[in-house]
Amino acid sequence: MNFRQNPTVLATLLLVFLVQCRGYSYRLLQGWNRYEVDCCYVEAEEGISLDQVNSELQWKWPEIQIIHDRFFPDVDSKPVLVLYKNQESYRAQLGDLPQNLLAHYELQRRAIHVPLDAPASVWRHEMAHRYLHELSPSAPFWFQEGLARFIQGYSTLAGPCDRQSMEGELQQWVLQRKTDVAIKTMELPGNVDFKDMPEALKKSALSGVFVYFLWTRGDLQRILRYLPSNPKADPLYPITGGERGRMEELRQRYLDFLENPVFQAAPAKCGADAAS
Ligand SMILES: [Zn+2]
Repeated sequence: MNFRQNPTVLATLLLVFLVQCRGYSYRLLQGWNRYEVDCCYVEAEEGISLDQVNSELQWKWPEIQIIHDRFFPDVDSKPVLVLYKNQESYRAQLGDLPQNLLAHYELQRRAIHVPLDAPASVWRHEMAHRYLHELSPSAPFWFQEGLARFIQGYSTLAGPCDRQSMEGELQQWVLQRKTDVAIKTMELPGNVDFKDMPEALKKSALSGVFVYFLWTRGDLQRILRYLPSNPKADPLYPITGGERGRMEELRQRYLDFLENPVFQAAPAKCGADAAS
């Protein structure tokens, strides 16, 4: 697909990932099975066997484990996975959800809801929401969604200090709608109104680009090391100390990054004493 020639496709794809983040009520339906496996508590739709759960997790979980170990080593509670047979079944079970929803994170029970056939990137995105929620339940929207989008695009095949690409859709925002992902102040989006979808899409894109930028500086890694003992802190506090001058400097560096973006970067200050 060529996104440059088709801005509608771009918007649709972003929407898909954006709406995952809404919390939806959930009830255990009749016929569902509960399993406990090594990594997780599982609630599986009728028709999904324990063998099927194990074989899916056998190839999907190792990279989630790498994400956990690199970014969220302090989170040690066992996640709840609500598994659906496939995308059609997911939509049928949760009939009031938006049509293009792929998966979602349920705040109330801290559970990720995913169809078995969802791409690995979707699993990574939802698990990032779940891990961050464990670390810092009140993290602002920009950090929740920006981090989830960063991890959605993260390759676990690369080492922790190797280059990572910015997610393709985000690259297109930087190339085509730079002003939408720029910031005039350090007031990053704290929440989002899904009724105003164009604005919500912009906020999601800005958050994703900004978190990628933080990662290239080694700042994301510093934030994630700071939050376990300071769960209510503003994510930027360990970077700027809340000082106006340092916030403005960070904003300027971000604007410089937008002017001369690098879409495949390795993190700065990545080494033995700053392992990410
Ligand atoms: Zn999300």
